[in-house]
Amino acid sequence: MGKIRVLDEHIANQIAAGEVVERPASVVKELVENAIDAKATRIDVYIGEGGLESIRVQDNGLGIAAEDCETAFYRHATSKLADDRDLYQITSLGFRGEALPSIAAVSKVELLTSVTDDGAGRRLIIEGGTLKSNEDDAAPRGTDFRVNALFYNTPARLKYMKTVQTELGHISDMMYRISLAHPEIAFTLRHNNNLLLQTPGSGDMLQVIAAVYGTSAAKMVLPINSDSLDYRIDGFIGRPEIARANRNAMSVIVNGRYVKNYAVNQAILRAYHTLLPINRYPLTVLRLEMHPSLVDVNVHPAKMEVRFSKEPELMQFVEEAVRQALRREILIPHVTKQT
Ligand code: ADP
Ligand code: MG
Repeated sequence: MGKIRVLDEHIANQIAAGEVVERPASVVKELVENAIDAKATRIDVYIGEGGLESIRVQDNGLGIAAEDCETAFYRHATSKLADDRDLYQITSLGFRGEALPSIAAVSKVELLTSVTDDGAGRRLIIEGGTLKSNEDDAAPRGTDFRVNALFYNTPARLKYMKTVQTELGHISDMMYRISLAHPEIAFTLRHNNNLLLQTPGSGDMLQVIAAVYGTSAAKMVLPINSDSLDYRIDGFIGRPEIARANRNAMSVIVNGRYVKNYAVNQAILRAYHTLLPINRYPLTVLRLEMHPSLVDVNVHPAKMEVRFSKEPELMQFVEEAVRQALRREILIPHVTKQT
């Protein structure tokens, strides 16, 4: 008899959780992205003790149908890829169907959701990946997702969590970026009942920049706006005076998805060139739009990394767009002196 066997669902989910759920901020990211994919216009996030005690994401989106609630927690169960061609044209933030089973495998989850405005909804309780209850209950339209006692059944992982402040820092950072990527959505973030972030959901990115970085920083940014055949860029770039000591000040949003991409950051820095002191980074919020086939988001389970199919062209485009925006304010002379 052979030795190879297929892992059962429970173990497979725990393994996937190791990749998808690195820390509380990863849970927040997955839940908020699900809310965005569900077309929510309001998303309220409540965190208890750096997310280690509790994470709650409440949205007014489409909700999950009662008969889909259990299935949503199956591995690779998704409503977002209808057929395999879709994988090369991804427009939603999620698509792997891994987040819910992974989160549920390492926490105690309570889901309350409704797809209608008549008050009829569904409540599910899952602990450590085991369904405890699945019943009709009253609920407003949308989804209210609670994750308690994260990593309670994976003590090795729990041990690696940093202080409440550090975990909260990762969560706030995540929320800042997501809200910058979605000015059309009204976000709140609360920690132990303190309001940390509130965006108006007006669609105006500048108001989100003010909410995240403060109103004085929002007065020190320049608009950026460029088009090419393949790419569109818009957003804001900070004047050199408000440069920061941290690379995190550079936010790049590709097709509505916040991404981390070294090459784009380098292109931005090349455009600023000598305007920035060494080890200073500009505050930038760049929104890039391109055909989904020009960007591969299917790189890592946490999906923050992307690959571009025409990288050199794109980097040249970004660099030139940033340079133009700076030049418009006469920060860069048109003719550079020969040395
Ligand atoms: P994915 O986002 O990759 O599809 P998830 O495991 O994150 O996978 O979610 C599984 C499914 O559950 C989603 O495809 C969606 O149909 C449903 N779902 C999850 N969260 C929400 C939500 N907040 N509102 C509506 N539907 C949701
Ligand atoms: Mg998802």
